[in-house]
Parts: sequence; structure tokens; C-alpha cells
Amino acid sequence: MTASTGLVLLMGDVDAIKDYVFESSRLPQIRGASTLLMRCEAEICRAIRAAGGQVLVARGGFLLAEAPASQIHRLADEISRIFASHTITATMTLAWEDPAAAPPSPSPSISDGWAGRLIRADPSMRAASPNPFSRRVAFLAARLRAAKDSRSAVPTLETLPFARKCAICARRNASESLYLREGPLPVCPVCAKRHQTGREARSGLRRMWRLWHPDFLGQPPQDLEQLVEGAPHGRLAFIYADGNDIGRHLMAPRDPQEYQKFSRKIYRGARRAVFEALRIALKDWQGKFWPFELINIGGDDITLLIQARYALPFALFFLERFHYYTGHTASCVIVIADHKYPIRYFEALAADLLKQAKERAKSGPEPESALSFLWMPEPVAGEEADPFLRRYQSEEGGRRLRLTARPYRLAQAWQLYELALALRNRVTRSQRQQWAEALTRGVLPSVQFIQYQIARAPAGARLALRELLERARDLCGSPRGHHLLFWVEGPDGAWATAMMDVLEWAELLESA
Ligand SMILES: [Zn+2]
Repeated sequence: MTASTGLVLLMGDVDAIKDYVFESSRLPQIRGASTLLMRCEAEICRAIRAAGGQVLVARGGFLLAEAPASQIHRLADEISRIFASHTITATMTLAWEDPAAAPPSPSPSISDGWAGRLIRADPSMRAASPNPFSRRVAFLAARLRAAKDSRSAVPTLETLPFARKCAICARRNASESLYLREGPLPVCPVCAKRHQTGREARSGLRRMWRLWHPDFLGQPPQDLEQLVEGAPHGRLAFIYADGNDIGRHLMAPRDPQEYQKFSRKIYRGARRAVFEALRIALKDWQGKFWPFELINIGGDDITLLIQARYALPFALFFLERFHYYTGHTASCVIVIADHKYPIRYFEALAADLLKQAKERAKSGPEPESALSFLWMPEPVAGEEADPFLRRYQSEEGGRRLRLTARPYRLAQAWQLYELALALRNRVTRSQRQQWAEALTRGVLPSVQFIQYQIARAPAGARLALRELLERARDLCGSPRGHHLLFWVEGPDGAWATAMMDVLEWAELLESA
């Protein structure tokens, strides 16, 4: 506690936020859930300010504030009440500094408990040599984690075995009816509230978007069918992006004001990057319903649904602008599937894929923005990306083959995009399918097949196609060992090509 002000730090984190937002795959439910969480955040900010405190950050389910020690218990009750009244089931775990306790010791020892362990366990925090303020934040984060681990009381609505279940969540009892296009549905109060809020939020979205892009027409979609209207095969992309190393930078601010300034800068930069990237990626879009839904800008992380054909340009422009506006790099992943694929699988696969993109981002001498993606042509259930990425591994006469070069650094991802556009424009869809099939047969068979196809192309196109194949080779890194047209032998003896990635995006970038 700061003795002069009587303020203590208060930290909060919404519990199981993804379960609440992605419980249902229906768009009004997802939109309603994120709107309700934002309303909770806004109301909590008002309550803290009214009590004489100040909010350092309140975004994406995370809260850090300074609040008067004398009012902290009342505020904690108030925050529980705010969540219960807006969401019924969502809760926020809170932790705050004990006004009577001494501040965490500057040299972490066993007696520091979680904070000390946290600092010792995390090399990035050691490197940042935490100052007194960041030590307080780390201490509180550890306390919050411990509180989360020991949570037992989760609000549940009573479920009776013979009662009618909610047609949306299939978890809680239905107690009211919703009148939808498909007819009346029995629903529980939680889903009813999310739905109603999601419906009402459309006009707010329209207003917000017009502020950024006054000449943008159309309407926010009412459901995922409308969101993918006009998209080939109803393909939907789930995009998740997250700033690299922001946690380490959050250990640098020396006081609450610096912390607030830093998180504001990241949030505003992320928001600007999202809106600009959408405007550029959708410049040729003409439709009735917006082909995207922004689910969350949580500070340094964003979650967005968008028609698959716009996903790659959006991700590239977003990463570029995020770096420009915040000074930090980010990692981004795209999961593509049919819009009927359960949204919780989209989310789980994206979260899993993000770890690989983050590793790539950190692999060079300097942190770089990185991108990965996964296309699920068949709606197979799964929450881990690896089993699906293994489909890009194959074998030819004892030689291992890798048919993908993801994740990509940003500069390579731009090149991937250019090559995919060029291939889409120069090679017909049926030929591209033959190329993809040839790739699975191995190094020589695919090179021979594709070279033969190029030899049959009009003279003017041949050179451009050959150059395209050679540039695709660069996506696998510069060849140190053997290489053959678009194949490269890796240090582990496996042969790799990025051609399948280029072919996939050529298909995904088709507009009809
Ligand atoms: Zn329900």
C-alpha cells in the first residue's frame, strides 16, 4: 500500500472467459457475451473511480486498479454483483494487496512465496530486474493465480433431471422462449440474456464502424450464415493475434501511471491496427452483411471472425500496423473451417497453433512478427493442431517429406501471399489440384509433373511460373544442402517445400 494515498492494488481476471464467450457457436451469443463483459468492465471502472481509485487497465477480462484500502471489501462485493447482474454465470476472481502487510522484499527469497518463485521461475522477469512497483504487480498476479486455483464456488443454475434443457447451451434448464427465424426455442436465462444483448449490440457496432470508416456500407451480420454470405463453400476464418513478450514489458513500468500509459498505448495501437487492416483487406468487398465480426480487443490480443478469403491479407496488414503503432511485434494464427464447425474447436486450435507461431517469432536474433494457419477442409473435431499438421508429413522411399513451411515470419508471409495471388491468377483451379496431388507423391515426381505442366503453358507465362516456383523455395529458408526447384533438403535430412501452403492460399483466396 502507498501510505500517503491509502491506495492498494486490486487485480481481477474473469474466470473461464472462453467458456462463457464460446459456449455456443451462434453469433448473437458470442457477440452478446463479449458485449456483456465490456459492460461489466465499464461499470467496474465507474465504481472504482467513484470510490476514489484509478483503473490502470480493464480489458479482455483483466483488471488492474488502485483502490482505497478502506473500500476494498465493498468494491469486491460490488464487482461480484456487477457480474451476476449482467452475465448471471460469469465471475471474476480478485486479489488485492493487504494494507497491513509489508511490501514484497526487493531480493526474492523463499519467504517471498509465490512472487519470489514467479520471479525466479521466469527468466524474462529476472532479466527485467523488477522495480518495487512491478514486484507488487508480480506478487499480486501470483496471489490471483493461487486464488483461482483454490476457487470452489462457481455459480451454477440448478438443473433438474426432468426439466427441459436450453436449446442453445444444452446445459442449463430452459425457463423462457426465444423467437428466432427457425421458430421458438426454449432457452435458459443466461443464453436469453446473451442473445438479447447480441441483437441489440448491432446498432452500436454500426455506429462504431461508421466512426472509423464513414463510407463503409452494409450491416453487421445476424448470424454466421450471413457473415459468410457469398464466401466460397461458406469458409470461415477464426483469427487470434497476440503481442509478443508484452508480459515482460509489463514488468518495466515503475509506477501505476507508467503502467496505465503503456497498456493504453498497446490497446489503442491494436485497435487502430485492426480497423485499418479491415479497411484494406475489405477494400473490394461488396455485400449486404459485413464479412467479419470483431469479438475482442483485449489489449495486446485480438479475436476476430472473418470470411476465409480475407483472412490472410487482414492478418498481414494487422501485424504490420500493430508493430508500427505499438513498437512491438505480434504473433497471429488463422484457423479455417466450414462456418458450421463448432466455434470452441476453432478457438482451441487457434490457441494451440499460437504457441508455435510465438516460438517462430522468438527464434531469430530479434523478435519478429510471425504467422501460422490451419485449414480444416473436413470438420474433424480436435483441440490440438499437431495431429492435423502431421497430415503435411509424408515419406518417399525412406526420405521424409514436409509439405509445409509454417509458421512464417512476417516477411515470408507477405511473400506467401504474393505467390498465392500469382498462382491463383495464372494456374487454373483444376491444375492446382493436380499440383497438390503431385506434391504428395514426392520430390522427383512432383518436380517432373509440374515442369511438364509449365512446359505446356503459353510461352509468355512459362518464365513467370518458373520464377514463382523458385521464390516458393525461399520460403523454406535459404538452401544450405541440396535443393530441387521448389524443394529444399533440411539439416535433418527431410525434404521440405512451401508449395502446398501456396496452393492452399491460392484456393482460399478465390473469391467465388
Ligand atoms: Zn442456455
